[in-house]
Amino acid sequence: MLENERQAAVDVVRSVVTICRSVQGELAPGRWDKEDRSPVTVADLAVQAVVSGVLQDRFPQDPLMAEEGAAELRLPSWSDLLSKVTEHVRSVAPNVVDQERVLNWIERGQQPIDPERRYWVLDPVDGTKGFLRKEQYAIALALIERGEVLLGVLACPNLPPHLGDRLSPDADELTGQMYVAVRGEGAECLPLPRAGGSPASAPVHVTRESTPANLYWCERVEASSKNQDLTSQVVEQAGITNPPFRIDSQAKYAVVARGEAALYLRHTLDPDYREKVWDHAAGVLVMEEAGGRVTDLFGRPLDFSQGRQLSRNRGIVATNGMIHERVLAAVEELLPRS
Ligand code: AMP
Ligand code: MG
Repeated sequence: MLENERQAAVDVVRSVVTICRSVQGELAPGRWDKEDRSPVTVADLAVQAVVSGVLQDRFPQDPLMAEEGAAELRLPSWSDLLSKVTEHVRSVAPNVVDQERVLNWIERGQQPIDPERRYWVLDPVDGTKGFLRKEQYAIALALIERGEVLLGVLACPNLPPHLGDRLSPDADELTGQMYVAVRGEGAECLPLPRAGGSPASAPVHVTRESTPANLYWCERVEASSKNQDLTSQVVEQAGITNPPFRIDSQAKYAVVARGEAALYLRHTLDPDYREKVWDHAAGVLVMEEAGGRVTDLFGRPLDFSQGRQLSRNRGIVATNGMIHERVLAAVEELLPRS
């Protein structure tokens, strides 16, 4: 099912990984601050433009929900950034591309979405702070219809095949994995080696281990220490004694999907914060198709039909399934329900 969509998504994500690697490879990738003070780079904008342009061409009926806008990019003070973005778009786009076209492609990601229709969701660079630190980040593309994620492509260009490989001499060459899932068809890993070539894909599955003392877990890098104290207490209450892998972006979902950790716990102290659809859609489907389970902190299924935010959910509990109830019970005991 969705073979055309799957192939188009895999191909375009593969092509924009080269943009990300080129920008991240610069000595000090430039950082611009958006109105909400979160950072944006040449890569975020160039990736969104390319993916938007390709999807518009291939699937003109499908709208796109994507993180970035172009309002600031139209300001004269950002013209230097627009030139750089256009240059990177040209490096992978086959046709002549001018700045206005780049702006239009980016803006297409802000159009209103009818939740009853099929639409694409893109986080062009998820974990921009990790990207700037030259650590983990992801490119996350998903296809949603009536609140259901049908297809998820999650590229993690800096993720080694095993977390333990970080220190190995081969790690650099083998670094980069793309996880792909189609609803009902399982999840697979397509390597994105820096050395080039396309090694064979392999199925991915969550760990079947359920003894808490043997399990690892993931959480955000950017959460406050107060937040991290709370998540540690919850995890300890659930019997997991190992320290967390702190990883930026949806690479956390990938690490659970491939069985290296059994839990990704996400909690925000701000009671008004709502998770963004593009921060989860692709990763959630990869996790579920790898045999895992994803709910919010209170055990509710994620509701992707509410526009750009998961407005009916709070936080994330993503597990191998076997420890899900145990973690929810620990959350219920220790985190206030608000
Ligand atoms: P992560 O790398 O897991 O920290 O996820 C990065 C994403 O977290 C960003 O793309 C933001 O959309 C989102 N984010 C920003 N602030 C918060 C917050 N206070 N709580 C939860 N997520 C946030
Ligand atoms: Mg993001």
